[in-house]
Amino acid sequence: MKRRDFLVSTFASALAISALDFKQAHAYNIPYNGLIDIQMNGKSQYLDDYTPFIDENNRTMVPLRFVSEKFGRTVDWHEESRYAIIRDDDSKALYFPVHSNFYIRNDGETIEMDTESVIHNNRLYIPLRYLAEELSLRVDFTFNNNKPLIVLEDKLYINSRNPDLKSYSVYPFNATILYTYNDLVADLNWLKRYYGDVLDIHSMGKSTSGEYDIWGIRLGNGEKVATAHGAMHGNEWLNIPILIEQIKEYASLYKSNGYYQGKNVRQLLDDVSIHFIPSVNPDGTALCQFGAYAFPQRAEELYRLNNNHVPAGYDFTRWKANINGVDLNRNMDTGMRELLRDDISNRRRPGFLEPTYAFFMGDDVESEVESKILCNHYRQKNSVLLLDYHSSGRILYWNFSNTNYNRQDDGSFVQVPDLLTTQARKIASAMSSVTGYINHDASAVHNNTTINRWGTYRLQIPSITVETTNVVDVQRTVGAMKFMNAYFNERSRVLYATLTAVAAI
Ligand SMILES: [Zn+2]
Repeated sequence: MKRRDFLVSTFASALAISALDFKQAHAYNIPYNGLIDIQMNGKSQYLDDYTPFIDENNRTMVPLRFVSEKFGRTVDWHEESRYAIIRDDDSKALYFPVHSNFYIRNDGETIEMDTESVIHNNRLYIPLRYLAEELSLRVDFTFNNNKPLIVLEDKLYINSRNPDLKSYSVYPFNATILYTYNDLVADLNWLKRYYGDVLDIHSMGKSTSGEYDIWGIRLGNGEKVATAHGAMHGNEWLNIPILIEQIKEYASLYKSNGYYQGKNVRQLLDDVSIHFIPSVNPDGTALCQFGAYAFPQRAEELYRLNNNHVPAGYDFTRWKANINGVDLNRNMDTGMRELLRDDISNRRRPGFLEPTYAFFMGDDVESEVESKILCNHYRQKNSVLLLDYHSSGRILYWNFSNTNYNRQDDGSFVQVPDLLTTQARKIASAMSSVTGYINHDASAVHNNTTINRWGTYRLQIPSITVETTNVVDVQRTVGAMKFMNAYFNERSRVLYATLTAVAAI
């Protein structure tokens, strides 16, 4: 059965799964008694002895050796010191002690886990989440004939089913299929190590779940701050590695006092510094990449949100919102909430009036911590550019000067100063000339509560939305790169053109 058919046919039975079973199991601190099946690289395993289970911290535990060996790793057990070592063909090794809430990499780094490894059925069990991240596995948590099923796939297997993706693994960042939060942290650690003296890398706060940091990276001493943020929409995570690659290239040029197109980069960035916020909505991105399973404690609630309005079962690949089901790019104060609500109610514009995977504006402006973090950053007094990365259409949206569409809830109309419109046009033109992206007059897109409109109305700084791929549906893998070649290939030039245009205004 194809996966989609499978999801549709099990949709009803999945709903019938009683949460009680899991909860009762927790109450008595015993494994879920229905057994959890596991499928690895397309092969189902039904060995009761090896069954995964949910521990008292609500974490899914899997047998370390069984899973690691299936994915080509070797495992050694040290009886005396009671720990297991997982090794791959390269030099990577992982040390997992028994009854510990941490493990150690061979480079000395200790990683804390949110639950303890245990011996169960005479085998060492560790939380699936960490093993999956270390082995770069894609995880799906689903149901098969009313039984929970964990589906694990590695990149080779996924590539073998999608041969056209292979050629895209040559891109310089370390992700052939997904670019996860772990990939982001690994890149930031790398940047700290090599460019920590020129980059200011800092957490701007935690995401709603509290599990992830929202990272800010500043380069340059310019008092004027241009900012680029990505992945407000969780499923549009492909822009995260683009921004990271820009940071790598410009940090290198800055540190070496290098030149780009004949101009000294340090001089440019000491005039206008650049602040990157690559991943505004890490909860939403984790949901898109790993499904409800990414947040086991909220999985049932998230499943419900994902099936409001337009059911998609356990398929979260379309997820844009944050973990509360609020679309962060509808959560801003543009003075148009009532008009937008009215449009949605009367089906003049697509949208939803309650939490779900996308298009819900939230109960109030900036009701979400991610929105607050982002808006507070832009409100700093020397903010000179708002660059908002999305993934649909290879378009630059910039112009909000058409007063007919600037109507506020109170009936007044916002006047966008001509100078501001001119500045935004110059920057968008510079970006368009490098990428060939359509320079789109957004003034005909009305009644919305998006961040670029907020930046234009409330902060009166040039605010541009960049849509980097053809269609948002291809966001599932890095294979989508082929739809955004121009932007990816020209990422250095486009940043240079942008900063030069900002410096000139
Ligand atoms: Zn978007």
